[in-house]
Amino acid sequence: MKIQRGLLMVLCSAVALCGCSHLPDNKDVLFQTSTISALLEGAYDGEVTCKELKKHGDFGIGTFDALDGEMLALEGKVYQIRADGKAYCAEDSLSTPFAAVKFFEADKTIVPDTSLNFKELEECLDRLLPTKNILYALKVEGVFKYIKTRSVPKQRKPYPRLVEVVKNQPTFEFPNIRGTIVGFRLPAYVDGINVPGYHLHFITEDRSAGGHLLECSTSNVTIEVDYTRAFFVVLPEHGDFYQVDMTEKKEGELERVEK
Ligand code: ZN
Repeated sequence: MKIQRGLLMVLCSAVALCGCSHLPDNKDVLFQTSTISALLEGAYDGEVTCKELKKHGDFGIGTFDALDGEMLALEGKVYQIRADGKAYCAEDSLSTPFAAVKFFEADKTIVPDTSLNFKELEECLDRLLPTKNILYALKVEGVFKYIKTRSVPKQRKPYPRLVEVVKNQPTFEFPNIRGTIVGFRLPAYVDGINVPGYHLHFITEDRSAGGHLLECSTSNVTIEVDYTRAFFVVLPEHGDFYQVDMTEKKEGELERVEK
């Protein structure tokens, strides 16, 4: 695809303001296609192929053309977790309407000494991260007492809005499972562009199943955090992105769809 429209935001933390040049290198950038507001409105046409996406990151999350499942990218491979809860290797030609990826490089490693549920994991990270105002890529790997995920079934045109799709979302439970949580913690000000706060996906160690994370309970895990200060957003060139109405903010909808 031709990248014609890009919006680059460089987020400077206090560290970067010491007077010398500390701009992130071109690998330390969160690369995103389309916006969460467009996805909420049913803009599910795939625009960027997995092949293209891999040029911008080896790690991340998203979805697929026609909203055919949850995407998880890890160690350079892109997985499609479909409505049966199973993970499939995504073909390079598969496209995505919405995804965020980066090249993962841990800046901080945390080994919690107690079991954490989803809320406690968020609180633990919120306490340990230096600020809520930059982007973080998060990897939580190891043994979990419990994981609950969901996926979304492939849709047909005319596409329903996302809030309608998730009313019938299949969910999956994994007791005592090894695997990896992949995702991001983003600042409140990305509202409309991506999901503020935590948005995480999960895949089993054998890469056979997973989904969008709904609940978890860690057992023995390592948390890696990649501090990210650059954000590149590419908007679709055509398709339903041009048609949907993103002017109205629907309160609480993102919460129902992504949390
Ligand atoms: Zn998700």
